[in-house]
Amino acid sequence: MLRCSGVSKRFANGTLALKDVDLQVGQHEFLSLLGPSGCGKSTLLRLISGLGQPSAGEIDWPTSNYDARGLARPDLSFVFQEPTLLPWKNALANVALPLKLSGVDKDERMSRAAKALASVGLAGFERSYPRELSGGMKMRVSIARALVTKPRILLMDEPFAALDEITRGRLNQDLLALWARERFTVIFVTHSVYESVFLSQRIVVMAARPGRVSADITVDSPYPRE
Ligand code: ADP
Ligand code: ADP
Repeated sequence: MLRCSGVSKRFANGTLALKDVDLQVGQHEFLSLLGPSGCGKSTLLRLISGLGQPSAGEIDWPTSNYDARGLARPDLSFVFQEPTLLPWKNALANVALPLKLSGVDKDERMSRAAKALASVGLAGFERSYPRELSGGMKMRVSIARALVTKPRILLMDEPFAALDEITRGRLNQDLLALWARERFTVIFVTHSVYESVFLSQRIVVMAARPGRVSADITVDSPYPRE
């Protein structure tokens, strides 16, 4: 469903952030991108999401429909390390925001937002404001907001790196269960080998200077995945 072919990215200051990246991601895959700081993981996610153009190579979405400029990718959502919630809106309104921006009527967006909040374990917190929620809960709201549009692909850039270990463990478990149930594709950027093995079916290891793919590993868990 996503194919990067010979993707390179050179920034205006001359930094070659990515060189000849080939990567195919299938439907329903949970893929981790693992590698040291500066190996181009964020750059690759941004290019996939349409924020910026590769200097060479192509990113193809054979099964998705995006506009002629290749910008709008309604099938795709992004979760960052920072939950980026609007402080003056409660959890429900934050989750409903992408639906509001795409013109979904109020009753429908409220009911879909409430379902999305429930799916991340936050039923009952609809009226809470971001300042009233813990870091883990804010991350859950951010995941609900990403999933409320029913994306086919979810890009996550070190989403849990700022959370304590216990919270992070719970979120890992719940994310895996959500993925097993709803079957969106995930590309998950992490520094954590533990996290990548726990979560993924496949780990793509990147190396730096210049950023490139250095290994593509299938993780064969002996356990049923949720
Ligand atoms: P990672 O996410 O793996 O830590 P990044 O994708 O953030 O790596 O960065 C890859 C390389 O590109 C680094 O050397 C970084 O300094 C450089 N880089 C990232 N963004 C820019 C930019 N806007 N302009 C110039 N260089 C950049
Ligand atoms: P705003 O008008 O502030 O841009 P929204 O239109 O998304 O934001 O929602 C405004 C507020 O109204 C939210 O706090 C939301 O909780 C509440 N609200 C509106 N309609 C409903 C509904 N049908 N069910 C539950 N809450 C609702």
